[in-house]
Order: sequence, then structure tokens, then C-alpha cells
Amino acid sequence: MGRPAFLFGAKPAMTLAGPGALASNLFGERAQRLKPGSANSKPDRMSGTRKLHIKSYGCQMNVYDSQRMTDTLAREGFVEADAPEGADLIVLNTCHIREKAAEKVYSELGRLRRLKEAAAREGRKVVIAVAGCVAQAEGEEIIRRAAAVDLVLGPQNYHRLPDLVARAERGSKIVDTEFPVEDKFDHLAPASRDATRARGVTAFVTVQEGCDKFCTFCVVPYTRGAEVSRPVHKIVAEAERLVDAGVREVTLIGQNVNAYHGEGPGGTWSLARLLYRVAEVPGLLRLRYATSHPGDMDDDLIAAHRELTALMPQLHLPVQSGSDRILAVMNRRHTRADYLAVIERLKQARPDMAFSSDFIVGFPGETEQDFAATLAIVGEVGYAGAFSFKYSPRPGTPAADRQDQVDEAVKVERLARLQAQIDRNQAAFNAGCVGRTFDVLFEKPGRLPGQLVGRSPYLQPVQAMAPASLIGDVRPVTITRTGANSLFGELAQPSAERAVAGPPVFETSLEA
Ligand code: SAM
Ligand code: SF4
Repeated sequence: MGRPAFLFGAKPAMTLAGPGALASNLFGERAQRLKPGSANSKPDRMSGTRKLHIKSYGCQMNVYDSQRMTDTLAREGFVEADAPEGADLIVLNTCHIREKAAEKVYSELGRLRRLKEAAAREGRKVVIAVAGCVAQAEGEEIIRRAAAVDLVLGPQNYHRLPDLVARAERGSKIVDTEFPVEDKFDHLAPASRDATRARGVTAFVTVQEGCDKFCTFCVVPYTRGAEVSRPVHKIVAEAERLVDAGVREVTLIGQNVNAYHGEGPGGTWSLARLLYRVAEVPGLLRLRYATSHPGDMDDDLIAAHRELTALMPQLHLPVQSGSDRILAVMNRRHTRADYLAVIERLKQARPDMAFSSDFIVGFPGETEQDFAATLAIVGEVGYAGAFSFKYSPRPGTPAADRQDQVDEAVKVERLARLQAQIDRNQAAFNAGCVGRTFDVLFEKPGRLPGQLVGRSPYLQPVQAMAPASLIGDVRPVTITRTGANSLFGELAQPSAERAVAGPPVFETSLEA
């Protein structure tokens, strides 16, 4: 996997517990403060409280799922622990998108085995569960390779967790990777008000799961299954609960979020219609959605970017490659021109729109000419940032069986060149922010005393000296300089000039 060359930060595995712990951004890296009151790592046998440690890998869907698992297990008396040491139940919520992501899980399981053995010597039983897409893809194989694992459960089965954990505590080894008929969202517990408050002022809400697109490199349609959309009233109720507990920004998420087609009053609703409805939730200041497929950016959704002030002018729209030949063999269902046309229409709807993307380099058969087209599209769009990955063959996907795999050395070299190009664009985008005044939603204290960190409309972290009472508020901040991973600024007064000047327009295009 390539180093994400993004201001929005790196893509680490996240531990969903611990005072002030950070989980992360749009791609699972949005900074979220988690449960300040959560348990430390010392066991608490006297009170009978059981401790739960969840480690979340991969995308924002997993961050959301981990929180819902935590909320569901809280009903059973589990409290979060910030480390696996001392926990009675350890859940690894895994990602299977690239080989490296899956391998990380097995090395972590090796470490957990030693921890479990040490606990057994003290007379303590530790239950180890593997959830998420590795669980779905590898099932029983996980228990064969890592005997310390008690429970393997796929992403559609999290609502069964309390029952499965109880069985595992009694000594069973369980693999549950069916796609059940019942809707897991009907059975997963909502977050308590306290848990929501502790997680911060921004939140994800899953509106759609699974994917019907079958890009030839991707495991998602196999691990997450067919597209399913949650009904409108449940999403709205969840957003209302979150906002009532202090959340100010909601990101609607899905593997293919703009393919949303949920049941609402009068029939099936699109994502655009859902956005208009969620924007009406009183107290909600900001709305985002991720991740979108270029082929599903319909007219209404583009119009929403013009009309809905709560909808932030930033979009993650993965293109994967700039070469039509590669896009076709990837089964992306769009050409380079289709993609650029969508970008253009979005810019017309909202001139200050900022874009980010995912890229895959070294897809089977990719020539230097194909790769040059990818480099070129980065400059053409003028991305504010992007993630780039070396193609990783995933068992069971069509591209993995192709004979024209690209040499590892070539992938490494192309990835470095692509990242340099992305870095240049990102630096230009950030430099273009200096001297401008943006609304910033303050999220949490910064590193320095008296400093707060928030997000610009374009999802950049912004650091400014500001009183803690502003956490949860949107305030204008004038950007004074850029840092390695964030912008720095000063609180500004709302000014007539800003109102007249309107949103900033960025000129960030750089040629490859
Ligand atoms: N649904 C989104 C879309 O259509 O672009 C992407 C979701 S996927 C979970 C996240 C990213 O992982 C993809 O955009 C792609 O760049 C990357 N990815 C997926 N499969 C990959 C593979 N086999 N090798 C390398 N990167 C991969
Ligand atoms: Fe995977 Fe996205 Fe393609 Fe679906 S649209 S198969 S999630 S890359």
C-alpha cells in the first residue's frame, strides 16, 4: 500500500477506546475523540465489570461498525478498555482490501495469543474475536491459522455479538459469516448520549452497505455483499439522536454511498433527497458523504452541492486510473472523459469544490503510457489530496487471475512518482488557502495549551488558538500558514468582505 499523500493524515489501524484516543478521517481517519471515561487496561474483577478492547482497521465503515459493536456490548456490561492487556474480550475489526491489511491481522493475532496465554496462567479467560472483511473472506481458515481465536464473524452479523460472545465464553469456537435475512441495524444498539458526546462533534452514519459494481480488483462485493440501503426514517432518527447529543457534522457513509436507494415517504429515495432531509435536522451544521462512485453522481446530487449550504464543498471521488484502457479492464464503468465531466459539473455547481481520489498503480497490464495518463489526470483535476495504492491481487477477484501482473519494482517506482505528483498538488492547494478565511468546525483541543483543532470545509485539519468553549462551534479562521499535516490560523471576525467575496476559488492544477 502506498503512503497516503494527504493532508488529512495517515491511515493507521485505530483503537476504539481510550481517553482522548484518536480515530481518524474521511477514509476512517477522521479525528474522533473517544470516550474520555473509558476503562484503563487494569482488570476490574471486584466489580464484575467486563472489559472490551476493539481495534479497527481500514475504512470509515469499520470505524462506524466498531462503535455500534461497542454500544451493543455496553448493554451486556462491557466497558471499553484502551489496551488489550486486561481486556476480557478483544475484537479485531479487520480490512481485506489489500493483502497487507489482511496480513497485519495475523501478526496482531500472534501478539494476542501470548497475551491470552499469560492471562490463562493467571486463571483468566480472554475471548478473541475477528470481525470485518478478513473474517468474512477467510472464515474458518482464521481459526486454523490462529488457534487463539474463539470467534469469527462477518460484517452482517454484529447484532449477534452478545449471544456469540456468551457461547465463546463457555468454550465454543464459532464462525458466523452467513448473510442473515434480518437487518443487523434493527438489532444493534444505538449509542448512549454519553458515548456519543465522548466521541466528539462529528459522526458517521452508515446509510448503505455493500456494492454491486464488481470492479475487477475489489473484494468488497464479496465481503460486504450486495448493495443494501437503510430506510430514510432510521437514518434521520439516528442523525437526530446524534445532533441532540452534541454532534454538529454528520458524514453519511457507504461502500458506494451515492448508489443509495432507501425506502422513504412516497417510495425509493436517492442520496440527494436523503441529504436534503438530513440537512433539515435542527442543530446540524455540516453534512458530508463518502465514498462515491463517479457513475452514480446524478443531476440531483450535483445540484445539492449548489443548493444545500450544510453540504460541504469537498468530495472524495475515486478515479483509480487516468487510462481508459485500464478503466475498462478494471470494469469501472466510466471513462476518463466521463469522470472529468462530472468534476466539471460539480465545479460549476460549487466553484470552490475540492476533490480527493483513490488511485491504484500497477494494475495488471498497466503500461508506462497508461500510467502517464494517471499522472496527468492528477494535475488536470488539481486534487486537494489523494490516496494511492499498489495493486494488490485479491483471491477470488478477476484481476488476480490475470497473467499480465506488473512487477513489484515497477509498482514501487510508479507509486513514488504518483505520490510526488499528488504531494505537489496538495501543497499547491494548501498554499492557496493561506490568507483566506474559512469557517472551521472546532473539534477538540490541539497539542498546545489554548489551541483547538477543527476542520475546514475542505476537511483539512486547522489549528488555532481558541477557547475550549468553542468546541462544537463553527467560527471563521484566517489561515496564516501551512504545516506538514494541517493548516494554522487565527480566529477572525465574521466580515462583510467575506460575505461579498464569496467562497474561495482554488487554482491548483499542476501538470505532471
Ligand atoms: N467504492 C469506492 C470506489 O468505487 O472507488 C472504493 C472503496 S475501496 C474500499 C477503497 C479503495 O481501495 C479503492 O478506491 C481502491 O483504490 C483501493 N483498492 C481496492 N481494491 C484494491 C486492490 N486490490 N489493490 C489495491 N488497492 C485497492
Ligand atoms: Fe470496490 Fe468501489 Fe468498485 Fe464497489 S465500486 S467494487 S467498492 S472499488
